[in-house]
Amino acid sequence: MVPNVLTIAGTDPSGGAGVQADLKAFSAHGAYGMSVITALVAQTTTGVSEVHEVPPEFITAQLVTLLDDVRVDAVKIGMLANAEVIRAVIGVLDRYAPPHVVLDPVMVAKSGDRLLAAEAVNVLRDELLPRVDLITPNLPEAADLLGEPEITDPDDMPAQAERLARLGAKQVLLKGGHLDGLSSVDLLYGDGVAEFLSSERVATTNDHGTGCTLSAAIAALRPQRPDWLEAVREAKEYLTEALRASERLDVGHGHGPVHH
Ligand code: PLP
Repeated sequence: MVPNVLTIAGTDPSGGAGVQADLKAFSAHGAYGMSVITALVAQTTTGVSEVHEVPPEFITAQLVTLLDDVRVDAVKIGMLANAEVIRAVIGVLDRYAPPHVVLDPVMVAKSGDRLLAAEAVNVLRDELLPRVDLITPNLPEAADLLGEPEITDPDDMPAQAERLARLGAKQVLLKGGHLDGLSSVDLLYGDGVAEFLSSERVATTNDHGTGCTLSAAIAALRPQRPDWLEAVREAKEYLTEALRASERLDVGHGHGPVHH
């Protein structure tokens, strides 16, 4: 059976990040993709110019309308914009309890633009994290969630992942892509077990939407794989290929998208 996979996220008209990237990643992994939009974002490869936030009641309306009709096999949550939107999503998670909820704790775009209000970080950490199955922070996001300095040594990743797990998410994928090195090293931590996942670092500036693509691929794969480790390993390989293939694209003048 084809899994039905939902993204709850913001948009990117240039197609590299957000809902547009998520739907491409869902399709590439044989899932049936669906989307509930939290914010319309005027952005491209060079940055964000404006954000039009969707009223929280209308996010609830989109979710309830969808979930009353369609079985959802996995959910990816991306940009949530503000605390009211986070609480609207929580209300629906509590009511429908969909399986396999992946949270990409999107806070700031690579361009430096905020995609989550600073005062909403606490709400995301205290109220949403305990309700999701997997969080996928990069190192700046992990530091922000824990209120501590960004780590710079991969040896510190297991202890940091454990601290993140104590915030409530069942599994943590701590992404070490911001560290220097020939490989890009991530750490999957769950149920007391830590597993390093390494892939070749692809030298490219076409890295817009990498986090969106990875978390969406994981959500699409999870219902089709026996555990999180399999889904994450495969999604990471897919992202590495998509980064390599980005050289074939000619999209925009800034950080171009990955190709998938
Ligand atoms: N725009 C939206 C709507 C997103 O959800 C995200 C997710 O991280 C981004 C932009 C970030 O893109 P970038 O990879 O350039 O940081």
